[in-house]
Amino acid sequence: MRVRPWFIMTDDSRTPRHGFATRQVHAGDVRGDGINSRVTPVHLTAGFVFDDFAQAEDRFSGADDGFSYTRLANPTNAAVERRIAALEGGTEAVLVGSGQAAVTVAVLGLLQAGDHLVSANSIYEGSRGLFLDNFARLGIETDFVVDANDPLAWELAVRPSTRAFFVESIPNPKNDIVDLALVAEVAHRHGIPLIVDNTFATPYLLRPLEHGGDVVVHSASKFLAGHGAVLGGVVVAGSTFDWDGTTPDGSARFPHLTNPVRSLGDRSFAERFGRGAFLAYARDVVAARLGPTPSPLNAFLIQQGIETLSLRVDRQSSSALAIASWLEQQPEVASVDHAGLPSSAYHALAQRYLPDGQGAVFAFTLHGGLDAAKTFYDRLELFTRMTHLGDVRSLVLHPATTTHAWRTPEQRAEAGIAPGLLRLSIGVEDPADLTADLAQALAGLPTAAATPAPAGTATAGTAPAGPGTTATAPTPSRSGVPA
Ligand SMILES: *Cc1c(COP(=O)(O)O)cnc(C)c1O
Repeated sequence: MRVRPWFIMTDDSRTPRHGFATRQVHAGDVRGDGINSRVTPVHLTAGFVFDDFAQAEDRFSGADDGFSYTRLANPTNAAVERRIAALEGGTEAVLVGSGQAAVTVAVLGLLQAGDHLVSANSIYEGSRGLFLDNFARLGIETDFVVDANDPLAWELAVRPSTRAFFVESIPNPKNDIVDLALVAEVAHRHGIPLIVDNTFATPYLLRPLEHGGDVVVHSASKFLAGHGAVLGGVVVAGSTFDWDGTTPDGSARFPHLTNPVRSLGDRSFAERFGRGAFLAYARDVVAARLGPTPSPLNAFLIQQGIETLSLRVDRQSSSALAIASWLEQQPEVASVDHAGLPSSAYHALAQRYLPDGQGAVFAFTLHGGLDAAKTFYDRLELFTRMTHLGDVRSLVLHPATTTHAWRTPEQRAEAGIAPGLLRLSIGVEDPADLTADLAQALAGLPTAAATPAPAGTATAGTAPAGPGTTATAPTPSRSGVPA
């Protein structure tokens, strides 16, 4: 963040001098504003007063870096940006109104019509739709890599027009952890930055910039806020990627960052901001113009959430692993997709990238297929039926008929989303109460013995898109009794 003259940020809290829990309550603090509120105030204002004619002119020319209008920058939003940048180990961040806005700002900060994006196949459905529908209409084409841990698959997807790779650190609902260093190596060999959606891991469990990621995005609506009261999103960037690269034919790879612009006195973003060029462009040109500005009230509420992030994620992660191990023992459960379980094909990767906890969102598949999933879902009393995650409350979702309903049965099968699969997001409640709720909802559902191996009973953790996961289209039984 460029220094705003009216406050002094506690810059040292951004460095590794302090631990994570210290940074989550101190980093980015506002000091020296003459008022000294201990908690960053909610600056609910559209604009900021110019002292005089000259100051107005200077604010617009950039000679004075103070605030002018909330769409461009706001002190409450800026404090949250600095705190998240500090937690991710990034140099700068831009806060926006939702996670989808964050993905949009990150991608449009790098790509333009005619450019090509390569994404892991296993990503949030909203982001997938954004790539397939919205960006396609803008002339940005996306190819999906089915096995994100196969370097050759990324290699083969690269074109001269490829400008970014996109992955999620913990994809949902299958917990098919991505080997970030492996993907980053291919990306960097081609001069391409790697964007990582780190929503499910949070910076407490994993900091993608330490593993070769160049840009990190979050839905702050999830674990960062944690209370489920607001939406928000953030784009964070590190300082290692060189934006001056050229394509094999010698032309600039990111001309919008390396061509001179009038607003910077005929210098380029790369000349003016160096390795911070992308984030400066994403903030000043993409976010400030498209306008996905968060309300400072929402920023404040996200900040309140972040102050307890490590405590919540510790608790939620350990409860989730305990509940996943318990579910794996239940006769009604065919498989559990939790990367912390030794049975997961992603266990070794999870131990390497997520040694402090593997997150709190995972899926499991019932033997009884769709009918069992329906019965189970409706019987739950403590779990909330909701499409959200990372909340302090435990939540349950049936992806095949909700988030992934628009995919074809073949695509769902390829993604390992069987009709009997349910996703849980574990909250901070007493784990014994959660297990008791799951147990009463499971009671009497078909077990392996009672069910002739239905679709989607592949062993937990088999590789995604394996031919074994042949889920058929859910055909609800009218009697409600599993066949
Ligand atoms: C929820 C989510 C998003 C979208 O975030 P919103 O805040 O709902 O717009 C993007 N990526 C992931 C991984 C998510 O879980």
